[in-house]
Amino acid sequence: MAGLAVNNTPLVPSNITESRIANFMSSKTIFYRMGIHRGLWTLRHSGSPHVEISVYSVPDLKRITFQEAVSQTFQKVTQDERKYGPSWATHWFKIDITIPDAMFGKPVVFQWNMNNEGMVWSTDGVPLQGLTGGDGQERHEYIVTNTGISGNRHSFYIEAACNGMFGVGDGAFVPDPNRYFSIEKADLVVPDKEVQDLYFDLDIIRGIAYNTQDESPRAREAVWVINEVINEFILEDRKSITKCKKLTEDFLSVNNGQAKGQHQITAVGNCHIDTAWLWPYDETKRKIARSWSTQIDLMDRYPNYIFTGSQTQQYEWLSELYPALFEKIKRKEMMGQWEIIGGSWVEHDTNMPSGESLCRQMLLGQRYYQKHFNKRTKIFWLPDSFGYSSQLPQILKQSGCDYFFTQKLSWNNINKFPRSTFWWTGIDGTNILAHLTPAETYGASVTVAELTKCTKNHHDLEYSNESLLCYGHGDGGGGPTPAMLERLNRLKDVDGLPMVKPGSALDFFEGIEKNSRNLQAYNGELYLEFHRGTYTTQALVKYGNRKSEFLIRDVEILSTMATLLSRSTQSDVGTYIYPSNTLEWIWKLLCLNQFHDCLPGSAIGLAYKDVHKHHREIISATLSLRHQAQSAIIRLRSLSENTDTKSQQGLVVFNTLPWNRTEVIAVPRQETDWTGQQHNSDKHEYVLVKNVPGLGAAGYVAHTADIAAVDEEIGAKAYQDDDGGYFILENQNLKATFNHDGQLINLLDKKTPDRQLIPNGAKGNVLQLYEDVPVYWDAWDVEIYHLQKWKPIEGEASIKVVSEGPLKAELHFRQNISDKSSIEQTISLTCLSERLEFDNVVDWHEAHQFLKVEFVWDLVSDHATYEIQYGALRRPTHYNSTIDSAKFEVCGHKFADLSEANYGVALINNCKYGYATHGNTQRLSLLRSPKGPDENADMGQHKFKYAIYPHQGHFNSSDVAQQALEFNVPLSLRYAEDHEVRSGMVLEPLFQVEPSTQIILDTIKLAEDNDNGKILILRLYEAYGAQAHAILKSHLNIKQILISNILEDDTNDKLQRVDNTSSFKLTLKPFQILTLKVKLN
Ligand SMILES: [Zn+2]
Repeated sequence: MAGLAVNNTPLVPSNITESRIANFMSSKTIFYRMGIHRGLWTLRHSGSPHVEISVYSVPDLKRITFQEAVSQTFQKVTQDERKYGPSWATHWFKIDITIPDAMFGKPVVFQWNMNNEGMVWSTDGVPLQGLTGGDGQERHEYIVTNTGISGNRHSFYIEAACNGMFGVGDGAFVPDPNRYFSIEKADLVVPDKEVQDLYFDLDIIRGIAYNTQDESPRAREAVWVINEVINEFILEDRKSITKCKKLTEDFLSVNNGQAKGQHQITAVGNCHIDTAWLWPYDETKRKIARSWSTQIDLMDRYPNYIFTGSQTQQYEWLSELYPALFEKIKRKEMMGQWEIIGGSWVEHDTNMPSGESLCRQMLLGQRYYQKHFNKRTKIFWLPDSFGYSSQLPQILKQSGCDYFFTQKLSWNNINKFPRSTFWWTGIDGTNILAHLTPAETYGASVTVAELTKCTKNHHDLEYSNESLLCYGHGDGGGGPTPAMLERLNRLKDVDGLPMVKPGSALDFFEGIEKNSRNLQAYNGELYLEFHRGTYTTQALVKYGNRKSEFLIRDVEILSTMATLLSRSTQSDVGTYIYPSNTLEWIWKLLCLNQFHDCLPGSAIGLAYKDVHKHHREIISATLSLRHQAQSAIIRLRSLSENTDTKSQQGLVVFNTLPWNRTEVIAVPRQETDWTGQQHNSDKHEYVLVKNVPGLGAAGYVAHTADIAAVDEEIGAKAYQDDDGGYFILENQNLKATFNHDGQLINLLDKKTPDRQLIPNGAKGNVLQLYEDVPVYWDAWDVEIYHLQKWKPIEGEASIKVVSEGPLKAELHFRQNISDKSSIEQTISLTCLSERLEFDNVVDWHEAHQFLKVEFVWDLVSDHATYEIQYGALRRPTHYNSTIDSAKFEVCGHKFADLSEANYGVALINNCKYGYATHGNTQRLSLLRSPKGPDENADMGQHKFKYAIYPHQGHFNSSDVAQQALEFNVPLSLRYAEDHEVRSGMVLEPLFQVEPSTQIILDTIKLAEDNDNGKILILRLYEAYGAQAHAILKSHLNIKQILISNILEDDTNDKLQRVDNTSSFKLTLKPFQILTLKVKLN
């Protein structure tokens, strides 16, 4: 993308540019010396010996003839010697010029200004020309000679009348009989022809900029040209003047009717088919066939017609159900009439899917195109999703996409999005070329109004004079119609309208890449100021998505471990085969259900039957796969070590996070107790497991030192205090005090005892009910005014201690939300935990009510940090501007953090995405109750968890990302017997990142093309926004580690090995996603 640089300066508002240009062109401003006027004339000389002035003043206001005048005696004067008057008097000047050496060979001009009227006479009495001064119609120049010869003398007379053009009056034209005039200018000059030409060019271009149709592409280009001239202009540098002249000449050389100045539109046919929305997936399969077969027919009838189709899932359905039609599409694609586009498995939501999900959308999509069309697409196509994550530029660039297209931000209902063609900059600094069609639709009909809108609405015409028009009826409307194609044919090149041509989206993007200049950049998320309810609506779908994402992660890691173990074990008994096909099926199913009306919650109930079924299938399949992988690991390890076979009871605990963990877990009770210290009501026993290795497993044998009771003194406690009757949870780290409504009225971090986290009189864990009536889009929108109408849920609560400790201390509280709905909460602290956890069961039967939980902290910060895919994003905590206040409800993943410079609190969740932070108040959105398009949305029982994690240091230097992962990825355990169990390390860490403070190793899997299990893929990311250096360690026999990308391509970049070990050096930039391809011997 060389040549298409990012504009490193801000876009200048039109009014400021206009003033800048006026200053540059003017001879009269205080900045005159910086403008062009100073350069119009050069080699200025005045006074003796080059300009000699003598005068004869005619008495009595008489007007005399030339002959009379020259017969008088003239007095020598200097320029400033006296004034000439009074009004109506006449003064004859004799001017004697001696050409200076410097003017040799040049045209010599005499400039004269007395701010009055004059006549130039030759010495033999021929009137030569008039001179005028003042009143904006100055004429000061008299050409002395066209070719100066040094030392040559030239003489002439000036008959000066002491009146201006409009007499000698004041503002009301009343004559002033006593006006006097002085000689302001009597100079010899040489014109600078090139600068004068430039000046006259600019004068015209300025007129086009501000005196033709405002905002026309030509006018916007005119503004750009003058501005560029001012930036380039250095009077003393002739090269700079030549460059300026080239800019103005190029602009003015475009004649009437020539295409260059016209706006260029590329029109591409499409039909946006929502993969499910107001119909279920199965109907979509038929919509695709109906629409796409119609388009094949149109291609036959209109040979120039080009259509683009996205969503590889739709291609796959078509190939399975309508193979003949799929073959036709492949032929049209080869002929260039059908464009494959998008690159992702479906047009998914980009707010809520995890980092790995976004990567897998691209991996599945691009591999599908590669397999069936033998190419990838360079265009990420997402016209209709509800906002765009700021991690997308990096993910797209690492997935073979150079271009991004959407239009959805035109739906903003508060601020107009300020860019059309621009560089979109992600949180890691990656830029991708983006276009938001100024037509503001993906379902255009090719009308004059739409074509005109492309120019009127284009925010970046200074830099790019092109638009993409996406036309065609979507959602089963069948795409473009013959009428649209007929209009397109006629509109190609019509005077008064932009030029429009059929073309592919790739033609368009390659065109702007070639023709644009200095595009502006837009940094960070493309936040949609609309549809903010979609972070919360259909809570079970969000739960299913999050749960599936983490179970798949577990399965891929454990299956990789089992595969490698199986490969290194010389035994047939232990053979384990990586479940590649099942995993691909699971990923496709998960990615399908991240479609932009499914995961956001905006589809009908019938569609959600499928979504829920798919999530159940994923969860059940992954649990089964995880079990199989764990069994294989236990089996292979026990065989390979040939331990003694004494029968004993024990646990094998698996940790798929890449660091060591010590935690309290709930273990199913077997015939005997493990320690017998503490049970819960589900017949589980709490057990403290120490040092479960990261990306490994450890064994714990019952009735040994492996599983020991916890000293009561250092354990967790739940109790009711003596005087106030408040309920308290306490361990070594935290002391939390609750009132009878389950509200947190005090929270003490014992490591920083001076810090009371809740301000006096404020509360946390306050459940709130907001009236939630949007303007129109029920399931989609929560509107800004909902913040004005709400109530806390208080009274009639019951709260009690249910576990006193010492492993885990628990309070239980129950509260009616209304006469129909209720909430039960188990609030807990373990003996070691630094997190205060809230486990919720809600019975929810509301209409247009929004349930949230609120915490008020004793913290001051103008920003909060929210987790997004493989990184975090700062957003304001204030409503300063409408851009800030439009973000009154935002999307976050596992945590939102509010930090001062050295202390903060994170609000962590296990399946929620809606957050708000205002001032020191943090809210997590829990449940909505819209009635359309699914009248039963969210009715029934919900289970979810959230937690509070106070920490020292700002978020940037905390371990919040790790804590949020631990909250979402519980240790998984297997009950084991006999020879299967042993103390200590069962499986040593597969990989270790040291230190693990910033870099998180998220994904481990076999490569898609894995050479019989010998190639692994690792995905790591930097989680806090700072450059990170670490060592990647492994016990595997590694041949080399390539720095790959999301598509798992081979590259020449390798990780550097540390000496001759199997350790490698890692360096990650802020929020970098690093995909490694580990090749084993
Ligand atoms: Zn859509």
